[in-house]
Amino acid sequence: MSSRPRIDLHTHSTASDGTLGPAELVRAAADAGLDVVALTDHDTTAGWEPALRALPAGLRLVRGAELSCRWYGPDSPVPLHLLAYLFDPEHPALVAELARVRLARQVRGERIVALLRADGIDVSWPEILAAAAGGTVGRPHIAQALIRAGLVASTTEAFGPDWLGERYRLPKEDIDVFHAVRLVRAAGGVPVFAHPRATRRGRIVPDELIADLAGAGLAGLEADHEDHSPAERAHVRALAAELGLLVTGSSDFHGTHKTVRLGAFHTAPEAYERIVAEASGVTEVASG
Ligand code: AMP
Ligand code: FE
Ligand code: FE
Ligand code: ZN
Repeated sequence: MSSRPRIDLHTHSTASDGTLGPAELVRAAADAGLDVVALTDHDTTAGWEPALRALPAGLRLVRGAELSCRWYGPDSPVPLHLLAYLFDPEHPALVAELARVRLARQVRGERIVALLRADGIDVSWPEILAAAAGGTVGRPHIAQALIRAGLVASTTEAFGPDWLGERYRLPKEDIDVFHAVRLVRAAGGVPVFAHPRATRRGRIVPDELIADLAGAGLAGLEADHEDHSPAERAHVRALAAELGLLVTGSSDFHGTHKTVRLGAFHTAPEAYERIVAEASGVTEVASG
């Protein structure tokens, strides 16, 4: 590893809503000059094997996932994302929850398509599912169908209020966030709250919830992320310091489904080492 390792702890492949296959992703990570990359597909570990097999020399792979969670607080439930690193991919309760959420995503996707079709918008669920090619299906796949139909010009536009961002937005059956934090720890993994202050994505949770999650086993907060303003990043850092949580920075790379590049944001080596030290599910992997 170079003296200033480049560590990107949040990326997506075609195992969920990214556009590079897991093998292509690790090669692209090496080409981008990264020393460490985490593969964190939504609600699946399906990309782990192919990424591992293709791991280029000199690159370390952190196997992870991004769990679709929900906080059932005093008001209407708030969706949120939990990054989970180095957990046992065969932990039965976690495996069952991930399978349940992937199915719930299909149910929701099909319902969103039904709403669109009822308004005369010609998108096809079988076609969208086929395009996801067995990966965890999500709104980005529906966005691609809207682009193919010439209804919107970009993914960003597809996530606008007239489309998947509001008018055709439906909730899915996510994992209760406290249950998710405990499950990840039970599976030997390390849970980190992804983009916790990203107001541009929708509602955010109060700091008191983050304090409660820290009490339940949360390890860290993702501070440096493109969806956080500089003020939001500073707030997350201060909160993490107050609660004794580690902070991460990452690209949340999705290939051409987003504009952000691999390695756009980094995690400090000390935080990364803390994650590795706390994990007991699987090890990080370095090839040759
Ligand atoms: P879903 O998991 O199906 O609810 O869809 C959420 C996913 O859509 C996120 O993981 C991102 O990959 C993507 N996404 C969310 N908001 C936007 C946006 N404004 N522009 C582009 N992609 C987005
Ligand atoms: Fe995504
Ligand atoms: Fe996310
Ligand atoms: Zn993500």
